[in-house]
Amino acid sequence: MTKVVPPNWHNALMTERSLAYLCTVPVTKVSGLSGKRGAALTKAGIRSVGDLLLHVPRRYVDRSTQADLLGVASGEEVTVIVTVQKVSVRRVRKNLTIIDAVCTDGEGILNVTWFNQAFRAKQLTEGAEIALSGKIERYRGRLQMKAPAVDVLGTASESLTTGRVVPIHPSVGEVGPGYMRRAMHNALQRSMPMSDPLPESLLDRLDLMDRQSALGSIHFPDTLSEVPAARKRLVFDEFFRLEVALALTKNQRAHTAVGISHVPSRDLVDRFLTGLPFSPTGAQDRVLAEIIDDMVSEHPMHRLLQGEVGSGKTVVAVATLLLAVEGGYQGAIMAPTEVLAAQHYLGVSDLLEGAGMASVPLVDQVSLFDQPDSPAGLPQPERPIVVALLTGSTAELSNRVDAVRADVLEAVASGEADIVIGTHALIQEGVDFGHLGAAVIDEQHRFGVHQRVSLKDKAHNQDPDLLIMTATPIPRTLSMTLYGDLDVSLLDEMPPGRTPVITTELSKESMEEVYALIRAEVDAGRQVFVVCPLVEDSDKIEASSATVEHARLAGVFNDLNVALLHGQMKPREKEAVMDSMRAGDIDVLVATTVIEVGIDIPNATLMVIEDAERFGLSQLHQLRGRVGRGEHVSRCILLADPTTDEGIARIAAMIETTDGFRLAEEDLRIRGQGTVFEARQAGSGDLRIADLLRDLDILVAARREAFAMVADQLVLTGEIGEEVEALLGDRKEWLFVS
Ligand code: ADP
Ligand code: MG
Repeated sequence: MTKVVPPNWHNALMTERSLAYLCTVPVTKVSGLSGKRGAALTKAGIRSVGDLLLHVPRRYVDRSTQADLLGVASGEEVTVIVTVQKVSVRRVRKNLTIIDAVCTDGEGILNVTWFNQAFRAKQLTEGAEIALSGKIERYRGRLQMKAPAVDVLGTASESLTTGRVVPIHPSVGEVGPGYMRRAMHNALQRSMPMSDPLPESLLDRLDLMDRQSALGSIHFPDTLSEVPAARKRLVFDEFFRLEVALALTKNQRAHTAVGISHVPSRDLVDRFLTGLPFSPTGAQDRVLAEIIDDMVSEHPMHRLLQGEVGSGKTVVAVATLLLAVEGGYQGAIMAPTEVLAAQHYLGVSDLLEGAGMASVPLVDQVSLFDQPDSPAGLPQPERPIVVALLTGSTAELSNRVDAVRADVLEAVASGEADIVIGTHALIQEGVDFGHLGAAVIDEQHRFGVHQRVSLKDKAHNQDPDLLIMTATPIPRTLSMTLYGDLDVSLLDEMPPGRTPVITTELSKESMEEVYALIRAEVDAGRQVFVVCPLVEDSDKIEASSATVEHARLAGVFNDLNVALLHGQMKPREKEAVMDSMRAGDIDVLVATTVIEVGIDIPNATLMVIEDAERFGLSQLHQLRGRVGRGEHVSRCILLADPTTDEGIARIAAMIETTDGFRLAEEDLRIRGQGTVFEARQAGSGDLRIADLLRDLDILVAARREAFAMVADQLVLTGEIGEEVEALLGDRKEWLFVS
């Protein structure tokens, strides 16, 4: 295929049209779409003929299985295809409008009624052919349907609806299925003959249809049995384009970015690992080996570390940073919240000290951790690791703290700070790293791609090695698409001795039962978390409701130590509460979601989550992960009276499994892939046909083929490259910079 763009789509003599070419023909060139309908499609992202052809039917009405009005029995659920004879609108009273339609299939008569659906009067013009799905009833000898689902097929005389199968395309604005069908038919006719960028050998090997047949069959199948194979080809194409783009990104990064070839002496790392009070799990060892390979290599590491809650990611992260520190570089961890950054700070210092390695703290918030007078009291270290904490924005800090902050910034810039832990503050202007060698991003889904890139850019000249951690597992399909340009490591083994948390659901009416459970745990010497309802976007309201709940529970358990923790408390207060929780002095900790991640108190064995239906699945999973960390059997009580389907599904999933991967898949199922992609700041529009839950096998094949072709330099130019550029070019934001 040559790159020459044929001047006129309407030119019937044109040679084969490529999809990339069709993406250059404005959708308004399609007959019937030149006016406001074309504008509506353009606005909805269907800008070109190519886009239009990928707008596939949402379902089909199959005439060969339609019911016949004279033959249906009362009470039957059926689909009938009828012509509208008469429509009337009655406004019965202020909030009741009734639409009546008389319809016929040529033999029988059907009376149809809708309530308060005034738009039907406009939708159902007389003479229109429609498919109605619903329950048929016989009333005084007449057939009737109440509020059936409607698909407008078109006017009865139209040839496009006389086949056996009528496609129902998703409406866009005012462009309904009938209009869309005509435009699609027209566009398809004029787009043929169409070229196929995939070699025939590949099509044969993977049992894929050619593209032109696939598009023909998906839009206008003769029988429904043609659809699955057509869909398979188009799903393959969609995944293939995405995977080619990801492979190119990865390839390009490998060739252009200048990474650091770390030369690990294993001096610090080995001391760290052998000094730990436990031995690393097999998975931790394996993942660390994968990381070391990446770090030694001259290409910068871009690795996603996935691991179940409590699988021990922090150990791996610290070892990664120490590998950089050994060679004279700095390591950094970026966490999404201040609480998390502070916890990491404590966690890292604890791990280092637990391993007998001295750390020198450097913090920008004197209120949070008191500076030790000198590290002299500690055993004389061979080499103290300077750990700095950098959070908050300059504007929020007092003058007194500003002075400390300046010290921290100076230490970061000079390279004196070995490990720098922080929030977004790390990527702010004015923060300068002397020689950043490795960076860990925790809870990466809370950061945008740009923030990842900015952290990387804090290193001069060379790209630091990047380890991206997720606290929640990601379904395989997502790690191959959204994160498809990253290498993936999996911590799929829990440290020994963990028992799965027993999860139960209780109604909010059953507080007495909950109190009894709390009492029993405390009597047995254990500790309890009570998490208060989530208040979206308002720490303040959340804090005040936690305060109220705390007072209430303190009254119920007036002989116990019931404490409170929320995001509005001062850092020093929070730390004091966490210290006494760790020391076992607190029996019941009433908290907001500040305790979501990172908290590790093995003696806590009961987690009560109030209004659990309000939380997302991954959040519930994280919260539950705060218990079950010690030798004792732990429980999680979900206090919930879910009313929405989503809420019910989430609670059911939590009860059914503690497996984070299964929960992540369930989350994808419940929320839908569109939402998931949006939350990751990506375009859900890139996958219009493919379904991340159903199409894993096709995705695996598409990824394999795409990566092989890119490796063989087969798609850098030519039709596939053009097609990727045409359909994904404006996605470069997230595809090409991560
Ligand atoms: P997460 O993966 O959720 O971040 P953490 O890194 O917080 O998990 O680890 C959870 C707990 O398990 C911590 O108390 C940590 O010290 C402990 N831990 C980590 N690795 C091991 C191991 N190999 N054996 C025993 N305990 C471990
Ligand atoms: Mg963690």
